[in-house]
Amino acid sequence: MQTYAFGFPRLGKNREFKKIIESFWKGEIGEKDLITSLDDLEKERISIYQNFVDVFPLAEFTYYDNIFDTALIFGIYKFKNFNDYFEYARGKKSLELKKYFNTNYHYLVPHLKKGIKFSLSWNKPLHYLNKFSSLKSKPIFLIGPYTFLKLSNLEDDFEKTFSLLTQSYSELFSLLFKKGASFIHLEEPFFCVDLDKKEVNLIVKFYKEILNTPLKINLITYYESIDFLKCLYDLNFYGIGLDFVKGEDNLRTIKKIGFPKDKKLIAEIVSGRNIQRSDIFSKVKLLEEIKKIVKLKEEDIYIAPSCPLFHLPYSLENETNIKESLKNKMSFAKERLHELNLIKRVFLKDTKEAKKWAKSVKEEKIKIVRPKFSTLSLPTKEFLKRKKIQKEYLNLPLFPTTTIGSFPQDKELRRTRLLFKKKKNPLKEYDDFIKNRIMHLVKKEEEIGLDVFVHGEFERTDMVEFFAQNLKGFLTTQNGWVISYGTRVYRPPIIYDKVERKKPFTSKEINFAQKLTRKPLKGIITGPITILAWSYNLTKAPLYKICFDLASSLNKEAKDLVEKGIKIIQIDEPAIKEFSPLKRKDRDFYFRWAVRSFNLVSSKLPSFVQIHTHMCYSQFEDIIQWIMKMNFDVITIETAREKGKVLESFKKVKFNRGIGPGVWDIHSRYPAKEKTIREILEKSIEIFGKENVWLNPDCGLKTRNWQEVEVSLKRMVKIAKIYRKKYGS
Ligand code: GLN
Ligand code: ZN
Repeated sequence: MQTYAFGFPRLGKNREFKKIIESFWKGEIGEKDLITSLDDLEKERISIYQNFVDVFPLAEFTYYDNIFDTALIFGIYKFKNFNDYFEYARGKKSLELKKYFNTNYHYLVPHLKKGIKFSLSWNKPLHYLNKFSSLKSKPIFLIGPYTFLKLSNLEDDFEKTFSLLTQSYSELFSLLFKKGASFIHLEEPFFCVDLDKKEVNLIVKFYKEILNTPLKINLITYYESIDFLKCLYDLNFYGIGLDFVKGEDNLRTIKKIGFPKDKKLIAEIVSGRNIQRSDIFSKVKLLEEIKKIVKLKEEDIYIAPSCPLFHLPYSLENETNIKESLKNKMSFAKERLHELNLIKRVFLKDTKEAKKWAKSVKEEKIKIVRPKFSTLSLPTKEFLKRKKIQKEYLNLPLFPTTTIGSFPQDKELRRTRLLFKKKKNPLKEYDDFIKNRIMHLVKKEEEIGLDVFVHGEFERTDMVEFFAQNLKGFLTTQNGWVISYGTRVYRPPIIYDKVERKKPFTSKEINFAQKLTRKPLKGIITGPITILAWSYNLTKAPLYKICFDLASSLNKEAKDLVEKGIKIIQIDEPAIKEFSPLKRKDRDFYFRWAVRSFNLVSSKLPSFVQIHTHMCYSQFEDIIQWIMKMNFDVITIETAREKGKVLESFKKVKFNRGIGPGVWDIHSRYPAKEKTIREILEKSIEIFGKENVWLNPDCGLKTRNWQEVEVSLKRMVKIAKIYRKKYGS
């Protein structure tokens, strides 16, 4: 039995990754320092693997994102230096960002033009192979060609492109073989979504060619089970990695069809997505069961995490504020490596440590029931009625301008908040500081000429963390950082008990802001699904139950806001699509409880209160029918980076409520262009009619600076005015 881990966080113990790259962006260090510092960081990461596990891949490290790096390896984009490299991520050439499967990690979407040719142009794998030449037998990390293409935007025919790309993979493999490589760690999570026969045939056909290599290839799949495992058995893989945590069906499948004698099994049995500590002995039991089914020798089985470990924070060691009794129920990334090691030791008859480790956890098989919930949706005519009432009540101009909620958070703000949290400055002082920020913002919003204001979210470190800190049943971490994209990080809170509201917690700032202006101000609430999606769950309660508890707590919050005079409530749900199951068969149940939860938040509010929702970086094609069941009057979405393509889904359902397609890509460090604003506005008017269109940025403005914000918002307001004239109001 050997241990095999992958995807260990690149962020570093103290977020060194973020600090190094951001200081390069600021011009504080040059390219040489960037490379040496990141090389050192990678050495450290590798040494952690070495301390715990037998096998781990090389060349997993990336300066921004591995899907993007794959595009560079195969010559889809070329870069001269790292300034140029980052231009694709956040500069003039910036690529679209999308969520990686059903996770909150965002990757850069490569765009493959018609007639695309591939050529090996950046041998990143070789670079790492040479750098760590003393570790030669380690497999080399690559994203598989199928997943890569499926995650890219293609202009050409898929089959043709797949054929060309696989030829390039073959070339790369022979090159790597010549340079001394012997193993490849090839990740194909796309094998775990619903694929039809034609797609499976394509995979088999082209993989036959790729696998015609002396290299030993480990196929790594994750996030779900594979439905066509049998077809992969005939292929010349060295090992196959199967997720036995989320992909429970994998166990059922191998029971039915067995496992080939000539392959290694990489049994992914400890969770890479959640932080519940593994009950080592029930993992051992599972492994025994698997062993019996596959009839392999112990040395042909590897134990691994269920997916890359970067969805977990670095280590529990960095937490000093969590109670021991709770900590003993948790594991982060480093602890998962330890668990793999413990499981292996039990097989070597060394059970002492494992007993100690798992004494506070007991894994039980929970029977999954799927009650059929009503979604609490409103009929269409109800929205039309509300539209009329709200039109009178709010009296907004055509193309109302607004923002998504947060405004720039600078060093001073972050420092002051931290001091307050460490109890080094008193509440009154902190409150005054936040109030000042709000006053300043409201003045700015007046100056810029926006129509619907926000309070700026200065008191919120993060849209989920802030809510978690104010609800019972949650704990938050000091250093549990996880990358959401590039160098952007967040700390997922942990649900450890029944969720309840302690006392009102958003109204202090929001009501204060509303009193400063006659313009309507949106009361912004993070939605229950997003809070759940971006938290870990330490309880045994089913997700839908937690979500309903969250929703009723938030409903109390919404009612309090309205009672004090707030006329618009915005429920942010950027995670609703991302959190949906990968397999179609599981989606109906999920959306039923998700939509019900969303609708619970605004239940029993008067009809004059306008309900907004915000969702970003989601594709709506498959879920638009569910979106239509959600009770909101206006939706704001992100559209700027891909120039409004996302609107097609709304067009198909003849969307007839308010919609604010984002006109400014807030991930770019360049302000919104007037041309882009006009284009998106015109396209939206054409699709939705002038009376339904709003103007706003793609998302919150927390990470931008004031200057960029002012320029962009002023442009937006200017265009709104021009079009109001044009459309006669
Ligand atoms: N209201 C939040 C903000 O503006 C929304 C952020 C998000 O969608 N991720 O920051
Ligand atoms: Zn957003």
